[in-house]
Amino acid sequence: MAKGLPKTIGKLRASGYQVVSVKQEMRRNLMQKIRTGEELFSDIVGYEESVIPQLENAILSGQDIIFLGERGQAKSRMIRSLVSLLDERVPAIAGCEINDNPYRPICRSCRDRVAEEGDNVEIAWLEPEQRYGEKLATPDITIADLIGEVDPIKVAEGRYLSDELTIHYGLIPRTNRGIFCINELPDLAERIQVGLFNIMEERDVQIRGYRVRLPLDVCLLVTANPEDYTNRGRIITPLKDRYGAQIRTHYPRRVEHEIGIMEQEMYRFDDADYEVIVPQYMKEIVAEITRLARRSPDVNQRSGVSVRASIADYESLLANALRRAIRIGEREVVPRISDLPYVIPAISGKVEFETVEDGREEQILEKLIQGAVVAVFNRYFNVVELEDVVIRFKTGLSVEVSDTLRSPEYVKMNRQVTGLNRAVAKLDTEGKPPLVASAVEFILEGLHLNKRLNKDRVAGRVQYRG
Ligand SMILES: [Zn+2]
Repeated sequence: MAKGLPKTIGKLRASGYQVVSVKQEMRRNLMQKIRTGEELFSDIVGYEESVIPQLENAILSGQDIIFLGERGQAKSRMIRSLVSLLDERVPAIAGCEINDNPYRPICRSCRDRVAEEGDNVEIAWLEPEQRYGEKLATPDITIADLIGEVDPIKVAEGRYLSDELTIHYGLIPRTNRGIFCINELPDLAERIQVGLFNIMEERDVQIRGYRVRLPLDVCLLVTANPEDYTNRGRIITPLKDRYGAQIRTHYPRRVEHEIGIMEQEMYRFDDADYEVIVPQYMKEIVAEITRLARRSPDVNQRSGVSVRASIADYESLLANALRRAIRIGEREVVPRISDLPYVIPAISGKVEFETVEDGREEQILEKLIQGAVVAVFNRYFNVVELEDVVIRFKTGLSVEVSDTLRSPEYVKMNRQVTGLNRAVAKLDTEGKPPLVASAVEFILEGLHLNKRLNKDRVAGRVQYRG
């Protein structure tokens, strides 16, 4: 406990401390942050003009919020970052399971203590993290889990009734005076939703047939998949009506945002011996794979394709590039087109396929990768400008590349093929062989996908020919 803070109810009162509701507290602190220009969600990319203003307005108006969005749209992260709107410390009655307001306790035990000890009742100071809770909704969650349970022995003894009941508190009361988030709300059984509505709106709830008054002070946030949400009957209407704001989250709308998140979130190691250099086009390809997956009819769009797919793909791509660099004794780690098949294990776990046909998944992913490469290639080049390269191949040239081929081999190729040099130069290789290698592969594959070069796979290598 911090020094100098009042330790009893009496001292708290003497200090003039005012207890405000959690929504008032969040609103006040948000206003302060807006006033000082402090960014509320500095690590959330791409929501500056869409989601964040709506969220701030919802907090300023004290509304309960439903976040609607597919998986991997930073919903949980945004909700957790709302903890930063809580005061550094707030007082609660010490030892209370539900963080009772020292001036107006609601639990039986605190009211008894205040009646007996008055102003001498001790208080504790809660930190923001202690005032946040969340739960993934599942059909088997009960009222006891979320709200509470009455003690069956005491009920049998007939000792308590109504708000005199002794309650074993569930998750939401334990987050009293804080923020509680229920993820995937539509998965809660209807009966539980009714209980939730009662606690929010009527401030009482039926437990084992007893009407229990529970005037909680909770900022209750929920998330839902848009399709479940619009599905009739998945959320009971009164509960739906209770929420003041529906905020629709989305995937990054721009490639730069997808790349920004990828780079921010990827797992980083400190390998002093190796320098990782990722050409911009390789980043764009990774982002584009995810973006194409989000539009693919073969991918289940209800589940969506999380930014986590981009992050995992990016990590796998760099891992293969590192593995090669170690093996062939190069210091610079630069991913190439021939590293792309190694993202398949990463993305496979991140998308759900519409088809159930075994083995088709890999084909679908290969197509997505090819689609991404050609889309990015066509942003950088017009095949017409590479016609001299194509002609060189038409006269009988062929080259072999692979994910284990040493970079100087590509430098030779680059010299050998008329016109290739000029195209490679456009990609800013700083004269570094591993960057030349990556550029050469990008151009050859781009020409192949534009049907200007043929490609064969031979024993783990790829051959391009006219
Ligand atoms: Zn209490």
